[in-house]
Amino acid sequence: MPRIAIIGGGISGLSAAFALEEKRRAGAPVEYVLFESSPRLGGVLVTDRVEDCLVEAGPDSFITEKPWAADLCRKIGLGDQLIGSNDPERKTYILTKGKLVVMPDGLMFMVPTKILPTVFSPLFSLRTKMRMAAEWFHPPHKASADETVAEMVERHYGPEMVDRLADPLLSGVYGGEASQLSVRAVLARFAEMEAKHGSLGRAMLAARKKMAGAASRPAPPLFTSLKEGMQQMVDALLSHLDADALHTSSPVQSVIPQDGGWTVSAGYESDHFDALIIATPALAASTLLQLADEKLARELGEIRYSSSVTVTLGYDETVRRSLPPGFGFLVPRSERRRMLAATFVHNKFPHRAPENRAIVRCFLGGSRDEEILDRSEDQILRIVRSELQQIIGLTAEPLFTRVYKWRAAMAQYRVGHLERLQRIEALRQKLPGLALAGNGFNGIGVPDCVRSGTEAASRVLTAMGLESAASVPAQP
Ligand SMILES: Cc1cc2nc3c(=O)[nH]c(=O)nc-3n(C[C@H](O)[C@H](O)[C@H](O)COP(=O)(O)OP(=O)(O)OC[C@H]3O[C@@H](n4cnc5c(N)ncnc54)[C@H](O)[C@@H]3O)c2cc1C
Repeated sequence: MPRIAIIGGGISGLSAAFALEEKRRAGAPVEYVLFESSPRLGGVLVTDRVEDCLVEAGPDSFITEKPWAADLCRKIGLGDQLIGSNDPERKTYILTKGKLVVMPDGLMFMVPTKILPTVFSPLFSLRTKMRMAAEWFHPPHKASADETVAEMVERHYGPEMVDRLADPLLSGVYGGEASQLSVRAVLARFAEMEAKHGSLGRAMLAARKKMAGAASRPAPPLFTSLKEGMQQMVDALLSHLDADALHTSSPVQSVIPQDGGWTVSAGYESDHFDALIIATPALAASTLLQLADEKLARELGEIRYSSSVTVTLGYDETVRRSLPPGFGFLVPRSERRRMLAATFVHNKFPHRAPENRAIVRCFLGGSRDEEILDRSEDQILRIVRSELQQIIGLTAEPLFTRVYKWRAAMAQYRVGHLERLQRIEALRQKLPGLALAGNGFNGIGVPDCVRSGTEAASRVLTAMGLESAASVPAQP
């Protein structure tokens, strides 16, 4: 019976395992073994319950527009557990010169599509507002080479837009910097819009009109999550997998191509497999593939990662009443704080806190502040509480606190990322029965990781003649 090894038990590896399990249950002659170095499965998806509050240690939701995570949830019986963010209350603030300023209505990512709210917003200087007006006449521009998000945004709207919006938004998603991240990899849609329409404002408006014309249904919520938190997805996946095939506390030390397959060594044991799915962060994949292909290992090692810290603080109803409405705030770099963003969880997903509780979740770290990872939990809490006091005047003693550190967990798609993926794909194809999955390649969000794991499973099944090639898309 053909055997497949999966390395990494985060959502990417578990999605690959689920796709193989489905195939196995449908009668395909295939076995799989998943190796996870830590004692638990799920990777950065961790949910804790503290005093009737639901505390997310890693991701708290996923973007609804990308369907793969919600589709998987439906397959594993969680269709009725999916919930949307409380969008009628959606409001995000940007810390501007020490004060919270609400993001004007009509901003799509950083592209203004409504004139009046932007004109009257104190978020931007007159100079930037004039750039926004002039942007409407931006000629089509097809950049010959990749560039940073900052370069593109600055070309359209000037440096203030990079500081106030592009940079804080990207540090929220990638823990990264607009001056480093590749526009083609991170904002491919913007690069296409610029090439076709010139003005991003006009392009965005055209896209919105088209969508409004096509669908008469109300817009879906921006974010989707699960009633019991993201851990629910992990638990449901595990209940569908073969428990004997899941090896926790089993760090893989080496993988060596042998006899048309792979010898995988974990601890004192080595085993032979017909195919291999590596679903670890790209850095770990690089170390594992060192002996198999030095060039491939080098390319994978060039995909940088940043670290992050999430801090959750629980408060009573007095604090809940005193906090601003809305989902939370972002902190531009120019404000010189260590906090990158904060979410008012009780507003974003109300049932995650009883009515007499408030939950504030803060983010720190990112590529500019790796040092925070070396601070103790107490030190981190002191920083967070002092900044919350300065920003929103929050001095109350929290009822509980939780600090989670995630070292090298967020991939940074720097300029040239797509070209690197092509080189990785060419090298991968030379190795028999190897597939790569995870957040280092074609998307960092949970839905992208689900898709990458599912596609990796298809890729190895196709290589073994158990699935038709038509079902496998290109790229690692
Ligand atoms: C704090 C934080 C907040 C986030 N928020 C969101 C969000 O709100 N929405 C969203 O969509 N995305 C979010 N993301 C991104 C998203 O959660 C991740 O990109 C995704 O979950 C990564 O899944 P993964 O399986 O690829 O990697 P991981 O979860 O990192 O799992 C990889 C696994 O591989 C294991 N491993 C590594 N090396 C070895 C080895 N040699 N042998 C065996 N096992 C090994 C690791 O122990 C780990 O369990 C967030 C990420 C973080 C860190």
